[in-house]
Amino acid sequence: MCGIVAYTGRGDCKNILLSGLKRLEYRGYDSAGIALLSPQKKAYTVTLVKEAGKIRELEAELAHTKMKGHCGIGHTRWATHGEPSRENAHPHQDCLGQISVVHNGIIENYAQLREQLEAQGHTFASDTDTEVLPHLMEQEDSNDLLVAMQKVVKKIKGSGAIVAIDPRNPQQLVGARIASPLVAGISKNGNFLASDIPAVLEHTRRFLIIHDQETVKVTPHKVEIFDKEGRAVKREPFKVNWSISSAQKGGFADFMLKEIFEQPQGVKETMRGRLSGGQLRFEELNMDEQQIKGLKKIQIIACGTSYHAALAGKQVIEKWARIPVEVDYGSEYRYRDPIMVPDSLLVAITQSGETIDTLAAIREAKKRGGRVAAITNIVGSSAARESDAVIYTHAGPEIGVCATKTFTAQVMVMYLMGLYFARIKGTITEHSYRELMEELDAIPQKIQEILNGSKQIKKIADRTSRYACFLFLGRVYSLPMALEGALKLKEISYIHAEGYPAGEMKHGPIALADKKTVVVGIMPQDAVYEKLVSNIQEVKARGAHLFSISTQGNDRLAKNVDDCFHIPPAAPALSGILTVIVLQLYAYYIAKNLGRDVDQPRNLAKSVTVE
Ligand code: GLU
Repeated sequence: MCGIVAYTGRGDCKNILLSGLKRLEYRGYDSAGIALLSPQKKAYTVTLVKEAGKIRELEAELAHTKMKGHCGIGHTRWATHGEPSRENAHPHQDCLGQISVVHNGIIENYAQLREQLEAQGHTFASDTDTEVLPHLMEQEDSNDLLVAMQKVVKKIKGSGAIVAIDPRNPQQLVGARIASPLVAGISKNGNFLASDIPAVLEHTRRFLIIHDQETVKVTPHKVEIFDKEGRAVKREPFKVNWSISSAQKGGFADFMLKEIFEQPQGVKETMRGRLSGGQLRFEELNMDEQQIKGLKKIQIIACGTSYHAALAGKQVIEKWARIPVEVDYGSEYRYRDPIMVPDSLLVAITQSGETIDTLAAIREAKKRGGRVAAITNIVGSSAARESDAVIYTHAGPEIGVCATKTFTAQVMVMYLMGLYFARIKGTITEHSYRELMEELDAIPQKIQEILNGSKQIKKIADRTSRYACFLFLGRVYSLPMALEGALKLKEISYIHAEGYPAGEMKHGPIALADKKTVVVGIMPQDAVYEKLVSNIQEVKARGAHLFSISTQGNDRLAKNVDDCFHIPPAAPALSGILTVIVLQLYAYYIAKNLGRDVDQPRNLAKSVTVE
């Protein structure tokens, strides 16, 4: 999410920040701004320029702004709280327009902090969570910005890379890292803080990583790091040899692979603020308990990958909350004279928030007086603006055309929503609720375990890349993932693939199975596992190559299949968010073996804004 760049030194700060922001634009780009400490007659003042839109809008504004200075901060925003607009663009300032701050992340307790600060007389100029930071620092009333930062960091909950400047210390940058990335760059001409290495790679190749919970003070000749208790930390800089483009991909070969590996974080960010201390919160739904208890039906509308998240949602909502759920394609719903049941909720899932067919469904439902909640990754998108409620997946910007981390974030929202409804309706026992909450908490770690096994998945892909046809089979919770696995493979490898309910094979598709076919059996340990074992043996008997995805500890199955990958044990209802990671990696490695451009597959666009 978003990008930060900051500099202090002899160089031309304005241009260093601007070129850093251009390098960071791939991380988020709904608005941008910079603040510089400019020398006046006796003291320094802050010059602030910010604009809505892409960096070029900021650049145009800067072209006719006189701005001098050698110390400053810059930000390109990927909104999480407050619409993309000039007012909400960073940097944000305290009441006196002195302490100026850029931030990447989410402050979960901002509403409460803002209320307290307003009661103390602070006035706010934006709707962002970030703006509490400069006001909190101002409140500390300390001449030492580092001390103020260290105190403020203790008051906030959430995630953030933060960098602040104060004209009372005109050569100094102060930063902090709570989960979100932050690096320091070191050069003869000055020092930097940035969200990532590519932002300043044209100026230096020497870097220091700031670790979680650390604060940092940067002057033109020194970078000082402090631990949580404020004690100085010694760290040696390291040298980077990457090119700028490979650095933007974090050292990964493609954005798609990078985004697959970002999923533990994406899922964690999506849970943040909604699941904590064993409690679930969903104020964004704008529904009170009575309205939730009275829900007669949920209609979920989506297209493509989001449609598969919807199917996963249907299963858990029906199972846990006992509310009937119907799932429809946006492109179908709009043309089939749908029935809008009173006391129902329409949930529209769209990564971009601009998918034309899903928007049409939202409009149709609104026209008929329905209540609409959108699930999207883009703050301020059309879906967000036109719906009664919006739930953001905080997966961060996704650049690869093929959806990966936004999918698992959507599935996570579905799980959270299902449990939330169940809790309010009283359709789940306290014991199961607690157990599932604990399981949800462990999901990011389990995804990481699967990612750690990527080499094994690559080997399986290497053995099977040249097959002509792929059948992905699953039942119940694995079925939406079978459909998603087939879609991933089609999208990026251009091989014919189908996802199918395993029990339906005998009703037709088994005719496809032969020696040129790979059958991927998605069969974690659950109530239908034994059924799947029989289903896949039937296709094996027709000569197909069998690749099974099952649960750790299941060694018996491995003997009866050609390839096997094990996922960590999980509650069956939550296994889909794990098995799909294997399928994403599998599709990725096959496509790479075939020399495909996985980030920009042929004939596809990131968001489908035409019919
Ligand atoms: N939460 C902050 C905002 O919405 C920062 C978002 C970002 O990381 O760009 O302004």
